[in-house]
This record gives sequence, structure tokens and C-alpha cells, in this order.
Amino acid sequence: MDTIFSKIINREIPADIVYEDDLCLAFRDVNPQAPTHILVIPKKPISKLAESLPGDEPLLGHLLLTANRIAESEGIDDAFRLVINNGEGAGQTVFHLHIHILAGRPFTWPPG
Ligand code: 5GP
Repeated sequence: MDTIFSKIINREIPADIVYEDDLCLAFRDVNPQAPTHILVIPKKPISKLAESLPGDEPLLGHLLLTANRIAESEGIDDAFRLVINNGEGAGQTVFHLHIHILAGRPFTWPPG
């Protein structure tokens, strides 16, 4: 499996990277849906959350805690929304697991 996000990890295409460590990468969404819209992705190419394995538990926790730390560093930790679209029917378009961090505007519930 090779997606556009693998190419961003490998620096084959550019992205506005805001955070990187051994396990994950975070970069600004090219088509932002809010004033702050950042994607946090594992370097391991998991296609979607439903394909993750029990052994991925520490990695998934790391992604969530990283998203929170990024929210703090972006100054949006008072109000932000995390989204994981799992599968086409839920709006997933890139099949490399990612957490959307969205902030900077009001959000409605239920989501559209
Ligand atoms: P999904 O719809 O799969 O949950 O989210 C995929 C996200 O990836 C979308 O918000 C889309 O704008 C973003 N995206 C797709 N291609 C690129 C790209 O080449 N660079 C960046 N930075 N974001 C991308």
C-alpha cells in the first residue's frame, strides 16, 4: 500500500510539517476545513483504524497524545475537534490512517 501520505513521510512530495518523531508525522491539511487543520499520521502504513491490530495499541495512544500536544503548541487546546474517518462511507479518501485536528471556528453536533 502506497498513498500520498507515504510520499509525504518519504519527502517525495512537500508538506507543511508541524511535528515529527520516530512513530508519527503531523502536517497541515492541503484543503483546510477550519483555520487550524492538521493531520497526524503513523509512519507505519495502517490503511484505516479498522485495520489496526492489538499490537498497535501503544502507537494509537501515541497518536492521540501527540494530537493533544500539537493542540497545545498551536494554542488551540481550549477547543479542538479530532476526527478519524474510517472507510469510504465515513468520508475517508486517503487510505493511510490519520487523525484530523480541527480548530478555530465553531463546530456543530452532530457532525455532517
Ligand atoms: P480523509 O477524507 O481521508 O479523512 O482525509 C484526507 C485528508 O487529506 C483531506 O482532508 C485532504 O484535504 C488531505 N490531503 C489529501 N492529499 C493531501 C496532500 O497531498 N497534502 C496534504 N497536506 N493533505 C492532503
